[in-house]
Amino acid sequence: MAKQKAEIQKNNVAFIDLDAQKALISSEINSAIARVLQHGKYILGPEVTELEAALSNYTGVSNVVGCSSGTDALLMILMALEVKVGDAIIVPSFTFPATPEVAALLGATPVFADVDKDTFNITVEEIEKAVAVAKNEGLTPRAVIVVDLFGQPAEYEEIQSVCNKHDIDIICDAAQSLGAEYKGKKIGSFGCATATSFFPAKPLGCYGDGGAVFTQDEKLAKKLKSIRVHGKGTDKYDNVIVGLNARLDTMQAAILLEKLKIFPEEVASRQKVADYYSRNLNTAVKTPKVIDTAKSVWAQYTITVEKQQRGSIKEFLAEENIPTAIYYPKPLHQQEAYKGFPKTDCTTSEKLSQTVLSIPMHPYLDTDTQDIIIDAIKRT
Ligand SMILES: *Cc1c(COP(=O)(O)O)cnc(C)c1O
Repeated sequence: MAKQKAEIQKNNVAFIDLDAQKALISSEINSAIARVLQHGKYILGPEVTELEAALSNYTGVSNVVGCSSGTDALLMILMALEVKVGDAIIVPSFTFPATPEVAALLGATPVFADVDKDTFNITVEEIEKAVAVAKNEGLTPRAVIVVDLFGQPAEYEEIQSVCNKHDIDIICDAAQSLGAEYKGKKIGSFGCATATSFFPAKPLGCYGDGGAVFTQDEKLAKKLKSIRVHGKGTDKYDNVIVGLNARLDTMQAAILLEKLKIFPEEVASRQKVADYYSRNLNTAVKTPKVIDTAKSVWAQYTITVEKQQRGSIKEFLAEENIPTAIYYPKPLHQQEAYKGFPKTDCTTSEKLSQTVLSIPMHPYLDTDTQDIIIDAIKRT
């Protein structure tokens, strides 16, 4: 590792700089970990409840249920909604595999829909098409998992009205968008429930796996808390429904409590970094478009380039020691595991998978480093 670092002399740009954040709050984090070691309540200890309250306060959502990962957060929601064989769960094809995976795990059928070419998010038109595809297959459309890709909220108001019309639930996959806003409200209160992830590289990340579910529905929250601990009733040896072991570690909750304190500032810094990129890159490449009604949290800053040029641009930037990433190189409807599932015509997802390129993005990116990145992109 040290050797590898020594070799990166030229620019040494981080894609996501977790070290800068750690340097800022390492003593607070060390004390928080020490407190957990002191009290020894490693499973569902006091920090988990504290974190749930702090997140509820931050988002304005009345119920927060901490859990083991973003994937389990999605799975728990589908289990609480009693999704089953014969149900169709509409998902965008241009997303992380956890989104359709949870539906398939429960024996339901993920139905892939396309995304918008500018926002990369699912649209009402695509939901309408996917509902028709599902019905045509003899399935019952039950819910749509809306993904706020790269941190940008989808058009929830429009989506809510089309889902009301078809009597289907909205589940928000906010693994990348905790801290973002739609129409002045924080992500977490849209649809029937919202899942987020605390994977280290997400906007609010812990030092391992973690996640949470947000819901305004008290009854649903109770059911989620039961599912989190083997479908418990009065205790874990009273099993009222089939559940999981999907708890959030106390240690991770303690770390997240410290990180949440600086999170609002980090969200503001992310916006500044994104604005600077957009101002200086918009003549050179296609920069991300954010809808007027939303504020992105910029989990990724993703530019779009010509399909024929992406490989050489990525290579050129790598030579300049500027790391980039491709989210996602293959749309899910084309993946081996998901090829057999129903879909709409997903040409935009296919095109995006060949043209997107995510560049370094984190709250500690200074303008000097951004200038190096911008300059290199302009020289490609
Ligand atoms: C990261 C991510 C997940 C899964 O979160 P984990 O905590 O890694 O399980 C789900 N959906 C999306 C869109 C993600 O980016």
